[in-house]
Amino acid sequence: MNLELNSRVALITGSSRGIGRALAIGYAKNGYKVVVNYNHSEKEANEVISQIQEFGGVAIACKADVSERKDVIKLKEVILKEFGKLDILINNAGINRQKSFWEIDDEEWDYLMKVNLKSVYICSQEFMPLMIENKWGRIINMSSVSGEYGGPKTLHYAASKGAIISLTKGLARYGAPHVLVNAIAPGIIKTEMTEKELEGKSGQEYLEKILLKKAGNMNDILETCLYLSSENQNYTTGHTIRVNGGLYI
Ligand code: NAP
Repeated sequence: MNLELNSRVALITGSSRGIGRALAIGYAKNGYKVVVNYNHSEKEANEVISQIQEFGGVAIACKADVSERKDVIKLKEVILKEFGKLDILINNAGINRQKSFWEIDDEEWDYLMKVNLKSVYICSQEFMPLMIENKWGRIINMSSVSGEYGGPKTLHYAASKGAIISLTKGLARYGAPHVLVNAIAPGIIKTEMTEKELEGKSGQEYLEKILLKKAGNMNDILETCLYLSSENQNYTTGHTIRVNGGLYI
């Protein structure tokens, strides 16, 4: 592989596994310098780094609970020391818990909101000033189809993802004119986690509800992120792109 490196530095939060991992590898393959962030999965994060280095990409791994301000400040220090700047922030880290509304307790509500929503607020507040100073930046926030639909089995998750759409619009106002802030609302995306579920009967029934009759794959999310963060994308901000195969239109 003949890798042509570019000068842009991208941080993908929660990139030790799943979609974030695919984004980290995909950005590195496209010549970006990548910061792989993880909270618990150190081994997996190091595997992502090895994989990137194998094809000549540039990446570092950095542990930080992105819902904790002190961790994010440390993460910023590491990035500035290593690369001197940050151009692209993908707020991808997130958790989900399937439960009915009646089963959710206060502790779980607070925890999920902290990881899914507060992390986006903290990372944007810490990293956007670097982009404003450099007069160029892109922030992409990972929402979800359930943020628009109000997922009945995951009310707290859906609420956090709905709030991300609103936060994206507000952040776009603060980032303008140099930092463009957008969100992606994926539908059901094939990851190691969802693959088994999709193979079962309920998974098949679920797929029937999707206009395109299939789950998305991580490459669908990667391509949308690459478009939103590219040098040639200069006029979309405050927007949420649905990547859901027509599950919700
Ligand atoms: P996943 O496979 O469970 O991976 C989640 C990632 O987030 C892991 O790398 C995890 O790292 C990291 N993470 C969790 N809490 C963190 C924290 N406090 N600080 C730093 N990193 C943290 O999830 P996924 O399916 O790839 O989903 C990625 C994003 O897409 C999420 O925001 C999710 O809501 C959204 N999404 C996914 C789908 C889908 O179908 N998969 C659909 C719609 C939206 P550690 O293991 O190191 O903690």
